[in-house]
Amino acid sequence: MERIRLGRTGMAVPRLGFGGIPIQRLSDEDSVALVKRCLDLGVTFLDTANAYSTSEERIGRGIAGRRQEVILATKSLARTPGDLEGHLKLSLERLGVDYVDLYQLHGVSDFKSLDAVLDPNGVLATAEAAKKAGLVRHIGITSHQIDVAKKAVQTDRFETMMFPFNFLTPEAADELLPLCRRHDVGFIAMKPMAGGMVENASVAIKFLLQFPDIVLIPGMERIREIEEIVAISGGPREMTEADVREMEAMRKGLGATFCHRCDYCQPCSAQIPISLVMTAKSFQKRLPPERFFGDMIPPAIKKAAECTDCGDCEERCPYNLPIRQMISEQCEWFEEERRKYEGKIGCA
Ligand code: SF4
Ligand code: SF4
Repeated sequence: MERIRLGRTGMAVPRLGFGGIPIQRLSDEDSVALVKRCLDLGVTFLDTANAYSTSEERIGRGIAGRRQEVILATKSLARTPGDLEGHLKLSLERLGVDYVDLYQLHGVSDFKSLDAVLDPNGVLATAEAAKKAGLVRHIGITSHQIDVAKKAVQTDRFETMMFPFNFLTPEAADELLPLCRRHDVGFIAMKPMAGGMVENASVAIKFLLQFPDIVLIPGMERIREIEEIVAISGGPREMTEADVREMEAMRKGLGATFCHRCDYCQPCSAQIPISLVMTAKSFQKRLPPERFFGDMIPPAIKKAAECTDCGDCEERCPYNLPIRQMISEQCEWFEEERRKYEGKIGCA
C-alpha cells in the first residue's frame, strides 16, 4: 500500500484509510473480521470517533495485539475541557491503547464553535495538554463548512484537516487543499463516496487518487468492498473518457443540492428521519418495489407530514439545504410514484 506524508504530523500514512462509521451496523464478529482484513490488506489508518457508538470498541478488538501496525485516529465533539478529557479517556479505554496517533476536534462547522475551540480555556488547549502528556501524538480538526475550515487551517494550530471531498462535492480542491499544502496541514478526505450517493467505487476512488497528497477514508462494511477499493487503488489511476462521462452524468442527475446523509440535522423534534426522506430516490433504484413501497419508505413519508416547520434542522445542516422545502418535494414525488405503482398493480 502506497504511503504519503500526512502534512506536518510527519506520519507516513497509507493513502487508503478506513472510515469507522458503517461498522456500527455490523455484528461484533463481522466488524472485528472486517478490521482484521483491512490490516492484512495494508489499510492501517483507521478513523473513528467517540460519537460512533460501538465503532471504537470494535476497532479496538480488531487491532488487539497489532498496535504497532496501525495509525489510529479518533475524534470528539466535546466543547468543554471536562467533556474532552472524559471523551479521550473513554476512547483510549474502548480502543485498548495508551495513546492515539491523531486526535481530532470533531465537526467544527461554524465560526462560533471555532472561536470557542480556540479560546485559551477551550478544548484545543485541553487537547494540547493531552499531547504533552503523551496521550495524543497529533491534533487535527474536522469540518463541513469550507470558510470555517480555511480559517482553522490558517491558525496553524492543527496538524490535519478532515473535510468532505468527492467528485460530487469537490470544492475543497479550489482553495482548501492548496491552503493545507501551504500550511503543511495533512488533508483527509471524508465521504469519498459522497456518503453512499456514489455507487461506482472505481470512478469515486480514481477521482480522488488524482490528488497525490491526500488520504481517503471510505466507510466500508463488507470485506469485498474493502478488497475492491484496495484493488482499484492498485490499478490504473488515470480517469478514462468513460469515467469522466459517468462522473458528469451523476453530477447532472443529482443536481446542485443533495443530502449527504450526515444526520447533523438531527434530532428532529417530530422524529422525522430526515436523511431517509431526502434520499428516498436512491433507495427506489436499489430495492424491489414491494419493499420500497412496503415497509421501507412509507413510514418515513408519513412521519414527514408531521413537520412542524420549526426550521431547527436547517440551522444544523452544514450544507445549508432548504430541508423543509426538499422534504415537501420528496413527499409529493413519492405520492406520484406510489400512484403509478398502484396503477400498475391494478392493471396486472
Ligand atoms: S422543520 Fe420539520 S423536519 Fe426540520 S426539525 Fe423541525 S419538524 Fe423536523
Ligand atoms: S439534510 Fe443536511 S444535515 Fe441532514 S443529513 Fe442531509 S446534508 Fe446532513
